[in-house]
Amino acid sequence: MSDCLFCKIVNGDIPASKLYEDDDVIAFWDIAPQAPKHFLVIPKKHISGLNKAEEADQQLLGKLMTVAARLAKEEGIGDNFRTVVNTGEEAGQTVFHIHMHILGGRSMQWPPG
Ligand code: AMP
Ligand code: ZN
Repeated sequence: MSDCLFCKIVNGDIPASKLYEDDDVIAFWDIAPQAPKHFLVIPKKHISGLNKAEEADQQLLGKLMTVAARLAKEEGIGDNFRTVVNTGEEAGQTVFHIHMHILGGRSMQWPPG
């Protein structure tokens, strides 16, 4: 997807502060952090949102979770962090390439706004 911001990060066309990368996923620090630790884990494959994920994406999406948990642990927030996947504009999605937010380093409120 040539006009997708996160595909550009995957391709290296736009720089990002990366924590982790392998053949399937990439993780990088959020440019506008909402917590002392705030990073994103995304699949390299372009999927516009969770509402467009398919059965065949199950393993890849599961990997986002396990990579997120491992990186959270490495960042010292492994036992207290929040994962968020915003789906759709009204739910706060602004980048239409599926991504999981991982936030930690402060206490969180519930329900979210
Ligand atoms: P969402 O609003 O759930 O779609 O999340 C998109 C996130 O991407 C926001 O938290 C933004 O701050 C973040 N973001 C946007 N552009 C960049 C970028 N170039 N590098 C890192 N994070 C970004
Ligand atoms: Zn994309």
